[in-house]
Amino acid sequence: MNKYSKPSYGTCILVCENYKGEQQVEDFLSEIKPIQSPKLPPLKTRFENFTRSMGRVYIHLKKTGELLVPRKKFNERIEICKSNICKKFNSKRMSCAECGCKLGRKLALAASNCPLDYWKES
Ligand code: SF4
Repeated sequence: MNKYSKPSYGTCILVCENYKGEQQVEDFLSEIKPIQSPKLPPLKTRFENFTRSMGRVYIHLKKTGELLVPRKKFNERIEICKSNICKKFNSKRMSCAECGCKLGRKLALAASNCPLDYWKES
């Protein structure tokens, strides 16, 4: 058992077609070393960002009928975040320290975008 919040991460990636069980979660987390934990924004900011992104998800869904990204797109996005090119990847909380969103959910939703423009909505 490691220090990561497995239930939280597992719950997030359940929305993604990539999810193949606990072993996949273990494999993914073991690749992320050392632990990166830049500070997340305050709760109020995270809540505002979350509600804004849910609005975008709703509009995108109404317009395109698309909720989740295909597996290939999800993998491309997660590789960018994991590379920590932005220095905002919080591997301890599996969150983006720029917007405070949980990455499992954020990366799987078609309407999501990177707040620093490293990847865009599909
Ligand atoms: S969403 Fe963007 S800013 Fe956030 S961790 Fe991923 S690449 Fe970095």
